[in-house]
Amino acid sequence: MARILIIEDEADIQQILDYNLREKGHKVFVAGRGEEGLRIAREKKPDLVLLDLMLPDIPGTEICKTLKTDPLTKNAQVVMLTAKGEEIDRVVGFELGADDYVVKPFSVRELLLRIQAILRRSSSEQEVAATIQFGHLRIDRGAHRVWTGEAELELTALEFKLLVTLYDRRNRVQTRAALLSDVWGIDADITTRTVDTHVKRLREKLGVCGDYIETVRGVGYRFADNPEEATG
Ligand code: CA
Repeated sequence: MARILIIEDEADIQQILDYNLREKGHKVFVAGRGEEGLRIAREKKPDLVLLDLMLPDIPGTEICKTLKTDPLTKNAQVVMLTAKGEEIDRVVGFELGADDYVVKPFSVRELLLRIQAILRRSSSEQEVAATIQFGHLRIDRGAHRVWTGEAELELTALEFKLLVTLYDRRNRVQTRAALLSDVWGIDADITTRTVDTHVKRLREKLGVCGDYIETVRGVGYRFADNPEEATG
């Protein structure tokens, strides 16, 4: 069971979502306007927000940014609901910090499955494993040590952080700008090429496991969801 906030002005969509999510046992909050949605989000601290892009008062993109920067709400997972033709592409959605997005008209069943997957992912992130085994890759977080198979790798502190950051967000695209700010801890003023250079070096050191870090053309990088299906 999760706490889910629906910010959506179309009454029929609001009702369908509300009904189906309650039926799954979730605690549901509903807002028809952006301002109201933000207020409820701060008050009720939902685990996940279903956010319509086109709202009567504030654009969904603005709400998403606010949710992801406000300390009270930044841990909420955000799923954007966009209409076809609104032409928000995936990249824009991810750059705003959205965790996923669904194009209307959507199948309720599919949306529910996506929500389950996101909630599962975020709860497993909370119980962070001390030792990670992913395919041939093994990471010991506490000791800052990494192995591929039996061989221990020599990673710099930065490479280690980059690897763990990508791993913790596996199967989610990380833009170069996001990696710069989260791994290097600065705003992306230097140059996003820095990220490419470090990812390249990290991949070389990872050898056979280098393919676990996938390139998402024009966007950034993504750690594979499954070692068997990693494509580099
Ligand atoms: Ca709308």
